[in-house]
Parts: sequence; C-alpha cells; structure tokens
Amino acid sequence: MRKLFLSALLCLAAASAFANAHLVIQNTNAPGVGFNDTTSATPVGGNNGTTLGQQRLNVFQRAADIWGALIDSKVDILVDASFASLDCGTTSAVLGQASATKIVRNFNNAPQQNVWYPIALADALAGRDLNNGGAHIQAQFSSQIDSPTCLGGVGWYYGFDTNHGTKEDLLVVLLHELGHGLGFAGVTNGTTGAMSSNFPSVFEQHMFDNTTGLHWSQMTNGQRITSSTNDQNVVWDGASTTTAALKFLGPTPTFRISAPASVAKTYQINTAGFGTPITVTGLNGTVAATLPADGCSAITNGSAVIGRIALIDRGTCTFVTKANNAQLAGATAVVIANNTAGGIAPGDDGSGTVIHIPVIAISQADGAAIRAALTTTVSAILFADPSILAGADVSGHAKLYVPLTFADGSSMYHFDVTATPNLLMEPDVNSDLPSDKVDLTLNEMFDIGWKAATTPQTGRFAGRRGH
Ligand SMILES: [Zn+2]
Repeated sequence: MRKLFLSALLCLAAASAFANAHLVIQNTNAPGVGFNDTTSATPVGGNNGTTLGQQRLNVFQRAADIWGALIDSKVDILVDASFASLDCGTTSAVLGQASATKIVRNFNNAPQQNVWYPIALADALAGRDLNNGGAHIQAQFSSQIDSPTCLGGVGWYYGFDTNHGTKEDLLVVLLHELGHGLGFAGVTNGTTGAMSSNFPSVFEQHMFDNTTGLHWSQMTNGQRITSSTNDQNVVWDGASTTTAALKFLGPTPTFRISAPASVAKTYQINTAGFGTPITVTGLNGTVAATLPADGCSAITNGSAVIGRIALIDRGTCTFVTKANNAQLAGATAVVIANNTAGGIAPGDDGSGTVIHIPVIAISQADGAAIRAALTTTVSAILFADPSILAGADVSGHAKLYVPLTFADGSSMYHFDVTATPNLLMEPDVNSDLPSDKVDLTLNEMFDIGWKAATTPQTGRFAGRRGH
C-alpha cells in the first residue's frame, strides 16, 4: 500500500516537473474554406490529413507543438488562425502573418514597469490569464499560394519533413510567424520612430545601435528613425542569444580584393542560398566580367572567364541561371552585382540546377567600381573568416535587419540576412531551414523573459538522455 502510494507520488512529481506551453489553434474559417476546405489531398511528409483543410490544420498544430515544447506557460496560448485569399501576383505574394493580439504593461509580476510585453508572454509571467479568455496571437495565411496563378503555381508544402522541393514550406513559415506572435517584434512605428504610448517593449530594450551606443528604448524618435536604416550596425544584445550565437553562426563569408589599390578592400556581401559553401581555406583568383554582362545566356568570352571569379550583373534571369552559365564556362566563383542602388542584392534561393561553385552578391556601386578596374588584373580572395561570426558584430551580438532602404514589414524585427547558416527569423524564409528547430529565435525568447520548457527527469534514465 505504502509502496503504491509512493510510486504514485513519484509519478505526480515527474508530471509536475514537466513544464511547457500549450498553443491552441482556434480555427476561425467559415465552412468550406481555409481550414475547412474539403478538397481531397494525399497525405504528404508525415501529414496524414486527407483534405486540404485538414492538412493545413495539421501543420498549424505541428508548429504550435514545436513551440509549445520549447517554452513554458501555465496559461494556454490561444491562436486565432485562418486562411484567407491574400494578395498574390506572378512574382510577389503575401504568405501570411501572425502577431500578438495585444501588448500589456505593469501587470502583476511584470519583471519591469512601463515596458510592453506581448500578451502571451505577459500571461506566462503573471501565471494567469490577463486576457479574459481572448486569443493571444492572431494568424492569417494565404490560401492563394495554392492557386495555379499565384507565384507561377508554387503551392504550399504541407509535409513535416522539409522535402518541400520548389514549394513553400508552410511549417517553416508558421514557426517564423508564431515567433513574431510570441515576441519577436517591437512597438516602434517605422515612419515616425515613436513607440507605443512612448513606452518601449522588452524587444526595444535589446535593440542596440553600435553607432550611437544606445538601445532603442533610450533613443529619441528621430534617433530610432536613423537607426532603422543603419545597415549592419544594429544588433540584439540579449545574453542568451549572444551566447548561443557562438554555436549557431559560422565563420563570416568574406570577399576581399588585394589589388589594384583603387578597389582593394573587404566587400560587404550576401551569400546565395545555393552553391558551394565558402570555406575557411577559401579560393584565390582574379576577377573577370562575363559576356553577356547579365550572364543570362551562354557565356561568350569563356577563355577570359575560365578559372576566374566571374562578375555578373543582377537582372533579367535568376541567380541560378547566371551561376550555371558561369559554371559551364569554368568560373571558380560568381559575384553578382546589384542592378539598383541602395544595398546589396538579396541572397536568393536556388532550385533545380546543381551549382558547385560559391555564389555571392555585392552592391551596384561596388560592382561598377570593380568592373571599371578590370583594365588591370583584379586579385581577390573569397574565404570564411573564423574570427567573426557570420551575422554578428565584433562583439558577437547577432545583427538585426535594418537595410539602407527601409523595408516595411521586414526592417527592424528580423535577424540580418548576413547570418550564416540562415536563421528562422531572417525576413525571407530561406529554403534550407529545418522545419523542426527554431535556432536563435528561442534564445531571443529567453532574452525577453520566456522560461525554457523542462522535460521530466527520472533517475533511471537521467544518464542516457544524450539526444
Ligand atoms: Zn517575419
């Protein structure tokens, strides 16, 4: 009798030691549409739904479960979710978005006074529902992505196994968007620089500008506006993220020209989401411009390009097409120069053709300068610098995305695109992201106040938990 009681007690203790969060997906779609779409579907990649609506709901639940297993809250996190017919053209589309339904401050147990917290986090910190049963996060996603006219018929991928091919991986997109809803977002108006009622959120407290030496929470509205386009100089200085960055971020891909003096410097670059990774050893070479300059058809000056680093202008065709033409001509690497001012070309993802040389992008101005210098030998090295983390500053703080040209909906509340490997909270959801992990985003959550979920520990298996 006593033994039974004891083992029951042990079970209870184990259960109560298991702390996590429960994200509840609340389907707000009308009958027949979105989550309720009865179009039949074939199970895919671990998603056993047999209708389009069921599969969509399954992916939402999967994303909710992944986040729920990582953070701790006594209060159920309610997510009002729907699929809607959002804008989509042949080349651009709104995939979807999620955000906190409200922000609160000065609640019971608030770690700091006069600081905004997203409602899900506030409930977790308060240990009770401050929201009268209302949803904590609202999420709306595009059903149009599945239409044959949207983005050339790309379609959502509803599997859980990252085998999305050329489709848009809904699970990864959801992990990203729920990240915004849980607190990867601030309260600064990108046009005026004003914070909500002039109080910072816990996010602004960790946004640090290396030029002014100020956190966003310490700035004037004007300083925040200036900082919002201070490319490469705004970082996240939370301790958990900074420690974890050492593990997540790799050496910094670096493109440096040593001669002639007119263009000798280390260039700011983006790396493509395809091609061979840039190594610490790197490759030395001379730069050659391709003909045609945009590299969109077979290279006609192959004898000049073979064994060289090919300089190609952005535009007209995909990065992959350019890289493939350069690769066929024997180039050792590809440097794509932007065709517009104001920033470097985006990293771009590839699909289809296998590219086995490294591909990077530089700014239009840099491209023009290098092109002008090609009357003499331009010597360059492309390598990964292990002394600086890719996507972090010299202090190891992860960079936030504040490009020279303000990008509404992307600037401020994302990690920078220079992060390598790619991070979940970069503005573009890169195709090489895993669909079961949330990388540094989890550490950002710890920095703003989320507690980590804990798993049950039993004496018997404690020593065998190696994975
Ligand atoms: Zn985002």
